[in-house]
Amino acid sequence: MDQAAWSALLNYYNRVSGKIDHQKTERKFRGNVEAVLNAIPANEREELQSYWQAAKEATHPFDGTRHPAPMFLVLSNFTSGDMQERATGMMCSNGCGYVFEGKLVFTAPGEVVQSVVAHELAHGWLYAKYHSQKLPLPELTVPKEKQLRSLEAYSQDNQHEEWLVDETLVRWGFDSHLLEFWEVAMEDAPNDPSGHYELIKRRFRNNPVLGS
Ligand SMILES: [Zn+2]
Repeated sequence: MDQAAWSALLNYYNRVSGKIDHQKTERKFRGNVEAVLNAIPANEREELQSYWQAAKEATHPFDGTRHPAPMFLVLSNFTSGDMQERATGMMCSNGCGYVFEGKLVFTAPGEVVQSVVAHELAHGWLYAKYHSQKLPLPELTVPKEKQLRSLEAYSQDNQHEEWLVDETLVRWGFDSHLLEFWEVAMEDAPNDPSGHYELIKRRFRNNPVLGS
């Protein structure tokens, strides 16, 4: 997420946080995680779940405590990766743990939250299937020149992994653009981001070049 999107997220969260019923949003988040797991094709879900079963435990990335795998945490203001940037979500503990930004997952539309969760679970699945077995990652289906997401800030290896995640998301039936739509909606229409989000989505779908 870029700086403008982060400010928009913070502003939006500050405005609505008084109205958030934390128990209810926590339950809703669990529901979104379940929905993502259920949407993963059975054979790939099985690969992920048997990997978690074999690993048994996940280590909390910040306090080192151990928890049954898989571990799903909702935290705020954490940083992820080599660039130590604030993150909307991250995989940790070798694919057995997942951390998500509370300000995002407690306020964004369910389908946005699901695409963010699916993104991290796709990293987890790639970890289980390839990295944990020391296998090389597969080739991209779409050559890198034709990939839609530009990943200039990433290293070569990380670019390949991110594009594979995008391709995995398509196969699983998720749309990796939804987070961008929500970011734009929060910036452009802070008083009605949900309505604006639907509008952007429709406009994008009707665009013959970008729409899928
Ligand atoms: Zn990623």
